[in-house]
Amino acid sequence: MAKDESYLIKPLLDRNYPCVSYGKGAALYDMDGKRYLDACSGAVTASIGHGVDEVVQAMYEQARKVSFVYRSQFTNEPAERLAMKLAEQLPGQLNHSFFVNSGSEATETAIKISIQYWQERGRPEKTLILSRWMSYHGITQGALSLSGHYERRQRFEGMLDRLPFLSPPYPYRQVREMSGVDYAEELDHLIEQIGPHRIAAFIAEPIVGAAGTALVPGEWYYEALKQVLDQHDILFICDEVMTGMGRTGKDLAIEHWDATPDIVTLGKGLSAGYAPLAATVVADHVLEPIQAGSNLIMSGHTFSANPLSCAAGLAVLHYVKKHDLVKRAATIGEKLIEDLQEIQTASAIVGDVRGKGLLIGLEFVKNKATKAPFPKDAQVAAVIVNEAQRQGLLLYPSAAGLKGEGAGCLIAPPFTLTKEERCE
Ligand code: PLP
Repeated sequence: MAKDESYLIKPLLDRNYPCVSYGKGAALYDMDGKRYLDACSGAVTASIGHGVDEVVQAMYEQARKVSFVYRSQFTNEPAERLAMKLAEQLPGQLNHSFFVNSGSEATETAIKISIQYWQERGRPEKTLILSRWMSYHGITQGALSLSGHYERRQRFEGMLDRLPFLSPPYPYRQVREMSGVDYAEELDHLIEQIGPHRIAAFIAEPIVGAAGTALVPGEWYYEALKQVLDQHDILFICDEVMTGMGRTGKDLAIEHWDATPDIVTLGKGLSAGYAPLAATVVADHVLEPIQAGSNLIMSGHTFSANPLSCAAGLAVLHYVKKHDLVKRAATIGEKLIEDLQEIQTASAIVGDVRGKGLLIGLEFVKNKATKAPFPKDAQVAAVIVNEAQRQGLLLYPSAAGLKGEGAGCLIAPPFTLTKEERCE
């Protein structure tokens, strides 16, 4: 192979990506020894930083025991222990975990379980899932159908479901001020239009990540929505793939509100990137009719509940607890937002700084007074993120604007980030 030839399909086929050599803490180093401060944990994933020996050791010990087991033949110890730890840690009756390999698969599993739940309860006509604009639930067909993300849907519209979407909670660009009650009325109207007898569940990211640049709904928002969902017998699926496992300063971001979901999806920070791992966690009352009925979850993948991935997840969970990192995400996040607000004041293009804990968004605008976005073809998020990477700082590009016309980036460093790492 010629030196500059690559046979790997990369996100942008013609871009010259640096090749990573290793990571340590909040920094990554390429083959030329250049240092990058990982201010977005890759894809909001590496929440305990790179090279944590305890996690690597746990993975090594597990890998030595067995290479693979299939879930219809064996259960395994790390998966059982991780499921138990999650049941202890998560709120309400969220006590049963189904492990998969990616956030998209966790969404697909949540869709299937919620449809199956209503079948087992004798209501097979409840098959639709509602969602919001400015949302992202994954790239597979079912998950993308529910994602209100213009750019990621566009090419595939023809094969996606076309249900109406609920408005996103987006204070920076709201035409009029909207309270939780207003959104609840809109949801109620949408449900009546479609027919509650046809709807199985509603899915939402408690704090919107890549599709909205860290949108934080106001007080009472989820309480108001949950009330409407309960009135109409509709399950609440909380997509915590990006926000879960401490990222926003609580174990789950939904805990910033007083509304307990029926199903939660986890990914990214669950294994902090040490191995592919995600989970769909369901409450007792969701599993019970399935157990009493067909007693079978009609979903799964070859690598579901993979022992190596679950061992990594278990060690990450232990590390986060031992070092009290969820609290740390809350405190250093608060300080980081203050610092970024100073940058907003000084900058001509940072229109808004928002977020919670260590999930922080900067929305870029052409004109701060009018909030006019940059033209789409200026590709402003890509330009900023690429230039930052050239200068050794990793940021995550994100979408903004009610119709995806805006741009922003996410700042979401590892919870372990130190002042020294930030200033090096
Ligand atoms: N849900 C949310 C909220 C996400 O942010 C993502 C990925 O960014 C997904 C689901 C899909 O996860 P994955 O990329 O692991 O399939």
